[in-house]
Amino acid sequence: MLEIKNISKNFGGIKALNNVSLSIEKDEIVGLIGPNGSGKTTLFNIVSGLIKPDSGAVIFSGKRIEGLQPEVISLSGITRTFQEVRVIDSLNVLENTMIASLPHFKMNYHIASDAAIEALEIVGLKDRAQTPVSKLKDGEKRLLELARAIAANPKLVLLDEIMAGLMEKEQSRLANLINMLRNELEITVFWIEHVLRAMFRLVEVDRIVVLNWGNKIAEGAPDEILRNNEVIEAYLGK
Ligand code: ADP
Repeated sequence: MLEIKNISKNFGGIKALNNVSLSIEKDEIVGLIGPNGSGKTTLFNIVSGLIKPDSGAVIFSGKRIEGLQPEVISLSGITRTFQEVRVIDSLNVLENTMIASLPHFKMNYHIASDAAIEALEIVGLKDRAQTPVSKLKDGEKRLLELARAIAANPKLVLLDEIMAGLMEKEQSRLANLINMLRNELEITVFWIEHVLRAMFRLVEVDRIVVLNWGNKIAEGAPDEILRNNEVIEAYLGK
């Protein structure tokens, strides 16, 4: 479904990504981990079109997408959440969700509204549809961010540290939702997370890719990653 081929990106003298390749099959949940500054967000920004790679290719459903505008990439079926929730405080929950769904349903208000309500129901926020987002708790804002990504009818969703700062109970609930995205909605998931307990224990992750200093240092099933010395060193330091 997604093939990232030999992607490199420099910022000034910093090699944020160095010849990184990986692929994601349909219906997989793939985790992306690595210490701070290892290049995870840069990779998401490249896949979602926010920045252009210096070299390499991103192929989605057989088409090259690197360097395309974010809106075009989103319409092709890749949506994402952001670490810093991006919502408009003066609008209510449903309106914020519809901003995400409208472009995906040719601006048809009724269909986009149905899709938005369905997405809110999936994440458990339907009862809050008319609530101004300024009244939501942090955990609910994360759910809204996820609803916005779902309402845009994606084939692949990129989740950026969706667990950060949440309490364990909220993390468990989100973990169930991530499993459901794949198991019931057939949405493929590519997921950056620092909450390793969620990555290794709560979500049914198929594979984990590990970055360190812009290099891919490991890739494998969660239990293989846990036994990988290079990964342990990257996290614990030398
Ligand atoms: P991670 O998400 O793994 O924490 P990032 O992708 O945010 O890592 O960053 C990788 C490296 O690239 C870091 O050294 C960071 O400082 C640098 N970097 C990221 N974005 C920019 C930018 N827009 N300008 C300059 N340097 C950047």
